[in-house]
Order: sequence, then C-alpha cells, then structure tokens
Amino acid sequence: MMLDAVLARIDDTLPESLERLMALLRIPSISTDPAYAEACQSAADWLVADLASFGIAAEKRATPGHPMVVGHVSGEGPHLLFYGHYDVQPVDPLELWDRDPFDPALEETPAGKVIRGRGASDDKGQLMTFVEACRAWAAKHGSLPCRITFLFEGEEESGSPSLVPFLEENAEELRADLALICDTGLFESRAPAIITMLRGLLGEEIVIRGPDKDLHSGMYGGPSINPIRVLTRALAGLHDDEGRVTVPGFYDGVPELSPELAAQWDALNFDAAGFLGGVGLSEPAGEAGRSALEMIWSRPTCEINGIVGGYTGEGFKTVLPAEARAKVSFRLVGTQDPAAIREAFRAQIRAALPADCTVEFHDHGASQASHMATDHPAFEAARGALAEEWQTPAAFAGCGGSIPIAGHFKKLLGMDSMLIGFGKDDDQIHSPNEKYDLESFHKGIRSWARILDAVSK
Ligand SMILES: [Zn+2]
Repeated sequence: MMLDAVLARIDDTLPESLERLMALLRIPSISTDPAYAEACQSAADWLVADLASFGIAAEKRATPGHPMVVGHVSGEGPHLLFYGHYDVQPVDPLELWDRDPFDPALEETPAGKVIRGRGASDDKGQLMTFVEACRAWAAKHGSLPCRITFLFEGEEESGSPSLVPFLEENAEELRADLALICDTGLFESRAPAIITMLRGLLGEEIVIRGPDKDLHSGMYGGPSINPIRVLTRALAGLHDDEGRVTVPGFYDGVPELSPELAAQWDALNFDAAGFLGGVGLSEPAGEAGRSALEMIWSRPTCEINGIVGGYTGEGFKTVLPAEARAKVSFRLVGTQDPAAIREAFRAQIRAALPADCTVEFHDHGASQASHMATDHPAFEAARGALAEEWQTPAAFAGCGGSIPIAGHFKKLLGMDSMLIGFGKDDDQIHSPNEKYDLESFHKGIRSWARILDAVSK
C-alpha cells in the first residue's frame, strides 16, 4: 500500500528529519527584536532551499517586516494551504536555560527523548512535521497527493503586522479549499484533536464617577454616593445564582452542543478534577449544569478582569473616591453579536447608576467566535487519520482562546482551517528550556502523511 511505504520511509529517515529541524533551530529568528532581522531572513532562505530540495518551487516574499515564504506544488484533488511560522519568541531570561537556546540537542528525560531549543515546539518543530511528511511522500511517489500551497510567516510572535495586507494582496494566489495550521497542541498532551471552534472576545472598561473630588468619610460618609459601591453592585449583577450572564439578549446565537459533538467530547475523558486541581481549585464555577469542557469550549462567559478605586496603598485612608474603574471581558461563541452585547451591557450598567453618578465606557475591541464548517469531508477524513496514528479517538475540539490566523483565513480568503498540532502542555513554549517531544515530531510527521492520504482520496 502506498501510505505504508511513506510511513516506513518516515520511520527510516527520522534521524535526517531531526537533523534538518536542528539546522532550522540553530537560526535565531526572533521576530520582535530588530537585532535578529538578518536571522529572520536566513530562516526564510533556509525554508525556501529546504522546500526546493524536494522539488517544491518556493520563494521569499518581502513585506514591510520579516519576509513570508510561499511555495506551490500542483496536483489533483483538493487544494490545501499549509501555514506555519518560522519566527520565535525572545529567549530571556537566558540564565534560566540549561543550554544555549540556539544550540539545540536531543535530550534523554524520564518522560522520553525531547528536542530542546527555542522554537523546538513553537513553531519550527510543528512546521517541519508537515514539511517532512511531504518530503517522504515526494520521495516515494515522485509528487504530492494533491495541490498544496505552503505559507510560512516570520512575524507571528510579534503580532503579525504584515499578515493581513499580505493575504489581501495575494488573495487569489493563496486561496485554497482548506487551510491546515500546525501551531496548537494535543488534547491533555495525549490525544489528537482538530480545533474547529474558537471563542470570540469583547473588551470593555467602565469608569464610574461620583463626587468631583476624593472626600473624607468622616465628613461626607453617609450623604455622599461612593462610586466603588455603585460599581461593585453593578458588576455583581452581571451573573445570576446559576452562573448565567444577565445582560439582556446575551444568549442569542449561543448554540447547544450537537449530540455527535457531545459524544466526541465525552470520549476524550477530560480530567476536569486534574485540570482544576492543577491551579488549586476543585469545582467548576461557571454555568450550572454544564461540564467544565463545555464551559471552556462552547459556552460564553463574562469576566471581571480588574477593579481599581480609592486608596490601595500602605496603611489606611478613609477616602470616599471620586471614581472607580473596572475592566470586563466576554468570551463569545456561536453567532453572538459583539456589538449588540456591548450595547446591552452598557445599557445595563447605565440603568444601575443612581443620581449624581456618571459612567464612561472604553471600547477594548471585539471579535466574533469562529466555527469551521466541518461538513467539508476533509475534517472527518483527518479525524479518522489522527485516531489511526495515535490509537485513541480524535475529536473536533474547541479552543477557549483566540487564534487570529484562522479568522483571517476565513474573513479574507473565505477558507476554513483545520487546526491540528502535536505540542504538549509542558513544552514551555515562550519560556526557558522549550522542548518538543521526539514522539510528537515523529508521530506528527506520520499524522500528516496519513491526513494527506485520507483527504486526497
Ligand atoms: Zn506559534
């Protein structure tokens, strides 16, 4: 069988694959620090040459910042775009590293062999899982199983300033049937998952003002309104006793989990007790009647992220403050409308104001949740391929945080994304002693070979 030959080739040439990853890891492509701009160019050059080494026409494309690498290979079947990033986070504090972050090595640990070095996991190691799968495929078949576009970015760790303009300018060239993004992790470091739901985010800041200056509570305490009292009461009213958000219309557009997805999530056997226990907690504190996994992946939230007011310094001061502030954010799901929620939230806060208080709001941005259209047959095909490789069920998962690239692909190129990654929770990405398990690298390469096989049939 053709796939078996590719998998055997991946196993046989793993040492060479690892050598190539080590070479890429030695390039200190820190995107945020201008001192490493040359290294970012070198990393892009290295990738162009590496793709060319197995017959893929690729080139470095200039942007106002660090370059993009774009490569194309023609073929039958679906057109896939693979995205990864070659830039890395800064390495400080350097003294906390056990080795030079840009002198990577394979280390033996009690948990198995790991590749140690900056970018080992995020994202060079992950990016190379796909490249190596393609290389093995090309070596066995002389071509790739379908049409593939490669897109490697060099500014992901510094806010991707050039990405949106680049996607807009090159939309025709980059638009594919589906994007593959390898920059996420395994579920609980053990089970493969395809992230298909990303929560949106809405940020608001409230400033409530009362008296025109700070007052003394001995002089004014009683008759004077206290903005902190007004603020905390309004904030306390944002949730009911069941943990539900009280903003009118908040749950409009929040879908119930389908029975199929609920079954997939059940099969993941999420360790909620371990998840909460890891941060010193014991009970899910969200909406009553919802599992912890639902709370993170498929339910919306309202959180108070900061409160400031009055005297908070050393000692004590009996002040009645002139103002009180809070920052509040909402994680959004489904088709919840951030603009409508912002308006309803502001109206609710205004309605809670007594005479003599005013409120000012600051808009801290908003993004809608994104949902991949998993009815594209590639999603089921990839899920099956992942389960086969990892010998454990794979699920369409949610992600509580945001991954902007998937939203950009959807909005600018009309393209859904399959977010598949092999990182583990203890990879220490963005921190000293970053690592990638050799198993993640090896099985990651094999996973992509299986996925390419499955989706191109
Ligand atoms: Zn990353």
